[in-house]
Amino acid sequence: MRLAILALQGAFAEHAAMLDRLGAEHFEIRRRQDLGQPFDGLILPGGESTAMGRLLRDLELFQPLKARITAGLPVFGTCAGLILLAEAVENGVPCFGTMGITVKRNAYGRQLGSFYTEGAVRGIGTVPMTFIRAPYIAAVSAGVEVLAEVDGRIVAARQGAQLVTAFHPELNDDLSIHRSFLSML
Ligand code: GLN
Repeated sequence: MRLAILALQGAFAEHAAMLDRLGAEHFEIRRRQDLGQPFDGLILPGGESTAMGRLLRDLELFQPLKARITAGLPVFGTCAGLILLAEAVENGVPCFGTMGITVKRNAYGRQLGSFYTEGAVRGIGTVPMTFIRAPYIAAVSAGVEVLAEVDGRIVAARQGAQLVTAFHPELNDDLSIHRSFLSML
C-alpha cells in the first residue's frame, strides 16, 4: 500500500507525518514525472485551492489525476483538497469536480476563519476538528454520505472512494480519520 500526497503547496508535510505514524508508505507528487510511480491512494491537502488548481494545470497534473480519481482511485481531500473535488463551488471555480458536493469557500467569515472544536464523525467517533479559513458543504447529491456536521453545516462526507473533511485532521494528534482512509484502500 503506497500513498501519493499532492505537494504543490499547503499542508502536505503534516499529512506525511500522519502516514509515518501509521506506518504507511508515501511519496510526494510535485511534477508530472512523479505520476510514473505506483500509488493506491491520493491525499489532497489544505492550502489555497485556487493556487493549487492553477498549479495542477500548469504542471499538467490535472488531466491524469482527474482520470485516476474518476476511475476510482481512493482520494482524501482536506479543506482546500475538499474544494478541489467539489463539482460546484459557490464562490470559486470547480477543479476536479468529481464529487457530488456544493462547497462554499471561506464560509465562516473573517472572524471565524480559524477555530477548534470536537465533533462526531459517523463510523469513527468524536475527533478534534481544526478549521482554518475553511469551506463547508452547502449541498450534497444522492450517493454522498454525510459523515459530520458542525452547527448544522456539513464538514465531512464520503462518496464511493472519495473522502473529504472541511477541517484539518493532520493538524491534530488523532489518527482515526487517516486510519479510516487507509481502510478504504
Ligand atoms: N480558504 C482556502 C481555499 O479556499 C482553504 C483553506 C485551507 O485549506 N485551510 O482554498
